[in-house]
Amino acid sequence: MIMDYARARAGMVEHQIARRGVRDPLVLEAMGRIPREAFVLPGWEEEAYEDQPLPIADRQTISQPFIVAYMIEAAELRPGDRALEIGTGSGYAAAVMATIAAQVYTIERHPGLADTARRRLLELGVNNVEIRVGDGTLGWSEAQPFDTIIVTAGGPKVPTDLREQLAIGGRLVIPVGESQHRQSLIRVVREDRADYREEELADVAFVPLIGEGGWNAA
Ligand code: SAM
Repeated sequence: MIMDYARARAGMVEHQIARRGVRDPLVLEAMGRIPREAFVLPGWEEEAYEDQPLPIADRQTISQPFIVAYMIEAAELRPGDRALEIGTGSGYAAAVMATIAAQVYTIERHPGLADTARRRLLELGVNNVEIRVGDGTLGWSEAQPFDTIIVTAGGPKVPTDLREQLAIGGRLVIPVGESQHRQSLIRVVREDRADYREEELADVAFVPLIGEGGWNAA
């Protein structure tokens, strides 16, 4: 039997996301629009709407749908925003963000993941995402300042370059922790040129953020 993806997606938004407290209508609508089955490994399409992260190439993951929605809501992504994502992975979160923001910039350290994500976004007609291969802990200086920055891998600290590339009033959401596999999700708000407010939102488990402002590569 062929799976009804639209129905599975609507169920995901209702049961895994809205019922768990994500209320932002922009986020709920965006999560209801992007076909997650287009971002999983071939053969994993029927698992696309499960309440969990799934494996992608290069030993990385596409994040759990709830955490994608939660982070975008926490970052208060708004129409007109210039947004930066670190850790393109499958391209799924970038596609969701692009439904809301004016322009999304996303950086991935694995060239193969970046290529696949680029192809998928093109096929889906998402044309406001730019993907770059590199170390995202250094940010994207030519495209700054950003209203929103979302980091989808966990590092030992908040990278200085990312803080500095926030617009005044901009929000950065990033998993930070002493362990490479368990972190606290932190929101940093740039209140003024040299003024940042930081708060802890939740306990999370992300793959490691590898780079100059993150962990060393193994
Ligand atoms: N946002 C992704 C999605 O929707 O599929 C999930 C990303 S996965 C949890 C984290 C990604 O961060 C991995 O693809 C990993 O290669 C990438 N990554 C880790 N350190 C990085 C860095 N310094 N710069 C760019 N990407 C990085």
